Amino acid sequence: MSQKIPHVITCKATVVREAGGAIAVEEIKVDPPKASEVRIKMLYASVCHTDILCCKGMPIPLFPPIPGHEGVGVVESIGEYVGTRVKPGDVVMPLYLGECGECLNCKSGKTNICHVHPINLNGLMRDGTSRMSMAVTGETAYHVFSCATWSEYTVIDVNCVIKVDPRVPLPHASFLSCGFTTDLGAPWKEAAVTKGSSVAVFGLGVVGLGVQL
Ligand SMILES: [Zn+2]
Ligand SMILES: [Zn+2]
Repeated sequence: MSQKIPHVITCKATVVREAGGAIAVEEIKVDPPKASEVRIKMLYASVCHTDILCCKGMPIPLFPPIPGHEGVGVVESIGEYVGTRVKPGDVVMPLYLGECGECLNCKSGKTNICHVHPINLNGLMRDGTSRMSMAVTGETAYHVFSCATWSEYTVIDVNCVIKVDPRVPLPHASFLSCGFTTDLGAPWKEAAVTKGSSVAVFGLGVVGLGVQL
């Protein structure tokens, strides 16, 4: 497959300089994707309360972080080992829980906690380096929950993205990647709620509201 030779992109992203500090838009540099990574041009991103906690330094203080773990974007370029899983132009959603499709858990059909791509809290890619840096100072910026969707461009492992049907209203698809999947999975997979069941829902956050859909 032919594609443009990937280059470093300078773009805008949301950054926090210190725990609880102001959230600001600054210029960052986003490196080309390596190996099994893809670089995504973000189209939409949404806000989860967990992002606010990350901006306060939880669960691990990494500064400056590029927050955001919900969003939808289009693949801009791919690493040399991505193969045919996705191609430039595909609409995709970054996911903070990856799926290799091969490990015991992925094959079980009972859990989405992949042994190979578990949740990553160190803000770095699998090779221990970042693809993001501050444009002015050159300092490393961290990929929050692997996704870093509050940026015009982000880089993520291909096992942590899923293709989205571009006919889906993309602003709405943006928040499918976090709370809504929890509230769909809990009644469907865990509680085995069937049509006509009477249920009590506790809580009216995105999870509780989604259950009621
Ligand atoms: Zn969330
Ligand atoms: Zn797996």
